[in-house]
Amino acid sequence: MKNKTVAFQTLGCKLNFSESSTIARNFIEKGYNIVDFNESADIYVVHTCTVTSVAEKKCRAAISQANRRNPEAKIAVIGCYAQIKPTELQNLPGVDIVLGNQSKFNLAEYMESPLSERSSSINSPCSFCDDDISDKNAVFNPSWSAGDRTRSFLKVQDGCDHFCTYCAIPHARGRSRSGTIDQVVSNLNEIINSGIKEVILTGVNIGDFGKRNTNGFREENFTQLLHALSRANNAPRIRMGSIEPELLTDELIKLTHESEVIMPHFHLPLQSGSDEILHAMRRKYSKELYADRVWAIKRLIPHACIAADVITGFPGETEKHFAEMKDFIESLPISFLHIFTYSERPNTKALELKPKVPTHEKQLRSKILHEVAEQKANHFYLENIGRDEKVLWESVRRKGLMEGFTSNYIRVKTPWNKELINTITTINLPELTPEGDFIIPNSD
Ligand code: SF4
Repeated sequence: MKNKTVAFQTLGCKLNFSESSTIARNFIEKGYNIVDFNESADIYVVHTCTVTSVAEKKCRAAISQANRRNPEAKIAVIGCYAQIKPTELQNLPGVDIVLGNQSKFNLAEYMESPLSERSSSINSPCSFCDDDISDKNAVFNPSWSAGDRTRSFLKVQDGCDHFCTYCAIPHARGRSRSGTIDQVVSNLNEIINSGIKEVILTGVNIGDFGKRNTNGFREENFTQLLHALSRANNAPRIRMGSIEPELLTDELIKLTHESEVIMPHFHLPLQSGSDEILHAMRRKYSKELYADRVWAIKRLIPHACIAADVITGFPGETEKHFAEMKDFIESLPISFLHIFTYSERPNTKALELKPKVPTHEKQLRSKILHEVAEQKANHFYLENIGRDEKVLWESVRRKGLMEGFTSNYIRVKTPWNKELINTITTINLPELTPEGDFIIPNSD
């Protein structure tokens, strides 16, 4: 009998990708074949995101694609959007199963059970659908991705206790929790054994690692975790996902500086460059603390990459606040900017804040920050010309070239050579091409 097939469409963050990969492995263990989402499949899984209304729209589009591709197939909708708006998704044409952020890990078992014959949602009582993520019930489900030959997203933490006023994630993923160092190290060893050369530590608020771990009480922290991971045999390159500025300790920066395997790449969400707006966002730091963290990194690791997330158009953000943000960003040695336009989210406090920033004004501010972002990136690249760097080469071939990233997250290219895939070589960063690329001539 031909094996059943399942196809995944994963939207949103690295955490979703690490979890989809783990759920897919459960299906493989049950004899399913994983096929591409563009193909006909017996089961389609849409792993959703609810971080913005645009993300939700993309999820609904993926569901209707699956429905068109094979109207006979079962469609399972899982993850954050499903956790927050189950009924809305359950009522979409073709949707059979809606599972939130806890029960999604039982999806393969669920599909094998007679229950899968009747449509179900997290509101319908069944042993698979326990999606109560209130703090005492939320458990930590370890995950790591194996889809990419070169790097893996390793989940170390889930949920968040911060409740920033614009953010729906605590409502979708529950309170902050994590595994234990031993459990994460054992996942890392599985990744090392699969030949992957780089892991990205992912979660919702990774700096909060150890807050509520699977042993129930706090005994470990993120710095201890990094120490343990960097001491693993044949440890791969370790890249940190985004870390809240107030949780980035001097000890973490020093450990990164001294380590061969922890990459000098810091993703520090800023969100706003005005203390008044940071306060309205209920962020846990001031401009002064943020700047202090950035300069603390650069003092110890001058070539470190610092990537910052910013939100434009937050309610109450005036032209003066925006100008303050632009000046603040320009005053700091930030390498990359990730720019988001404020998006109203259900059950968030920011919904009550006034005045709203008109859409055209949001778009204008976003455009201005994209110009700043380009200048920042270009300046960072110019600073790195002539430096030696280690590059991990990837398997994608484009226009006869292959790509890789340096330790400080600079993309470099070289003529295609399959011998280089998933190997680390030392290169010297040449002049940029007119197109703004680093091209390494025949890197072998
Ligand atoms: S720290 Fe704030 S923005 Fe980040 S996940 Fe938690 S609540 Fe959301």
